[in-house]
Amino acid sequence: MQGSIFPVRRARLPEYTLLTFPDGDLIVKSSDKKEFRVHKKVLCLASEIFTGMISLDDVNPSVPLESTRPATVDVTESSFIMNALLRYIYPVERPRFSALDQIVAVMMAADKYLMGHVMKDLEDVLLGSTYLEADGLRVYMLAHHFSLKKLEDASLKHAVRKDVLSLRPEQIATAEITHFSLEAYYRLRFFAWKRAMRCETLIEEELFATPTGKICECITASRESDSKYLAEQPEGDWGGDIYVSDDENETSRTCEAVVKFRLLAYEALMEDCGTDVFRNDLMLKAAKSSKCRDSLRTLFEDRDQKITKIRWKMDKIPWEFEKEYLEAKKCNATII
Ligand SMILES: [Zn+2]
Repeated sequence: MQGSIFPVRRARLPEYTLLTFPDGDLIVKSSDKKEFRVHKKVLCLASEIFTGMISLDDVNPSVPLESTRPATVDVTESSFIMNALLRYIYPVERPRFSALDQIVAVMMAADKYLMGHVMKDLEDVLLGSTYLEADGLRVYMLAHHFSLKKLEDASLKHAVRKDVLSLRPEQIATAEITHFSLEAYYRLRFFAWKRAMRCETLIEEELFATPTGKICECITASRESDSKYLAEQPEGDWGGDIYVSDDENETSRTCEAVVKFRLLAYEALMEDCGTDVFRNDLMLKAAKSSKCRDSLRTLFEDRDQKITKIRWKMDKIPWEFEKEYLEAKKCNATII
C-alpha cells in the first residue's frame, strides 16, 4: 500500500476523530486551528473549489521550500465541518450528527465547495430523520434554498402545518430564513388555509349533514320551550320562524355539544390544518363545555365508523394548492 493516497489503517474511526494521514501532502487548517493532513489529489477530485484553493495563493507561502512540512491551506470552516466533509471524500465512516444545526453547517459548506454528492447524502439523512417532522418548516426552507426537490416535497406537509409566527425567536434566527421570502411564507399559509377549509367541508358533509336520528336532552328541552312559547301566543300568531316538528326523529335542531365541537374543530384546523380534530381531548372539551346532559353520548356514541372514514378521507386531502394559489394571486384576491 506504499504510496497509496488512502490511509493504511482502515479501522472504524470514532466520529470525533479528526481525519489526518501521515503521508498527506497538504495541511488543511480549520478556523479553530485544527490541522488535517490530507492528499491534494483527493481534494482536487472531490471539489473544483479545493483545486482552485490549492493551486492558487491560498496555500500558505510562508513555509520554506526545503521544509518537509506540507503546504498549508487555511479554510473558514470549523474542524467539525471539515472533518465531516473529509469523511465524505475519503472511504471512511460517514459523519454522524446530533443536531440539525450540524447538518445545516455541513450543507452550507458542501454548497460552497460544490460537493453535490455530499448534498445528496445530507438530503437522504434529513429524509430519514426526525427533523423532517419536528423541524419541518426549517427543513423545508433548507430544501427550498438548496433546490433539493425530494426533501422539499417531503417536508412541505410539515411546513404547511407550522406557522412561522408560532416559532420561538431562536427558531427564527436561522441562516436559511434569510432566503425565505414573504411570498413563500404566504404561499404556505394559503395552502394551510385551503386545506383547513377542505377538512371543514368534509366534516360538515360526512358528520353533520347526515341526521343521527337521536334526540338528546338539549334538543328535547329546546323543542319543549318552543312548544310552550307557541302555546302562549295569541291564535294565528306563529311566532316568526319557530317551527316545532311532531316527528320524534326531527333533525332540524343540532345538539349543543355538536355545535361546540364544530367550533373547536374549526379553531384547531385554522391553527394546524393537519391536526386530528377527533382526538379525545378535543371531543371531551366540546362535551364538557356543552350544557347538554347527553353531550358525551351525542359526540361519542356510534361515531367510530364515521370518524374512521373521515380520517381516511382527510389523509387524501392534498397539502399543496399551487393552482388555486396562482389563481388567487392573479385575481389579486385576499388569500388568508
Ligand atoms: Zn344535546
